[in-house]
Amino acid sequence: MSSIKGKDTRPEIVVRQFLWSHGYRYRLHRKNLPGRPDIVIGRLKVVIFVNGCFWHGHRCQKRSPETNKQYWHDKIYNNRIRDYKNHSDLESQGWLVIVLWECQLTRVHRRQATLDQLLATLHLLEHPTLRPYQLPTADDDVPTLAAEDPEIYG
Ligand SMILES: [Zn+2]
Repeated sequence: MSSIKGKDTRPEIVVRQFLWSHGYRYRLHRKNLPGRPDIVIGRLKVVIFVNGCFWHGHRCQKRSPETNKQYWHDKIYNNRIRDYKNHSDLESQGWLVIVLWECQLTRVHRRQATLDQLLATLHLLEHPTLRPYQLPTADDDVPTLAAEDPEIYG
């Protein structure tokens, strides 16, 4: 739907350059996937949408346009419905859908945090054993917490 998001918007380029500089290779706007995702990392089965906040109805948008309120409301509502459907279609095909918002990428300090988080997510997908924590297995020797020790607290 090229009318709702122009190609090569600035925030999208920021993400692409970041991914490229970290060694990720991707394809753009693959037409054969629901919603033509902005960035597709086929190797990790990840799609990334870089969404404009106004067009996709992000919650950061507090004010609606002064004129044609109903028109814009309906248009953005329909965009959101379509986004939702595209994302669930992609997920049912096994894709991980990542949505990045324009407002997360425009201001410098938020941009860095957003990109860092994206990188951490991709790292986890690449190295599934590097999970931040793991549930203990039956074989693990789980020490008794002091608060549970009846000699102390009984
Ligand atoms: Zn936003």
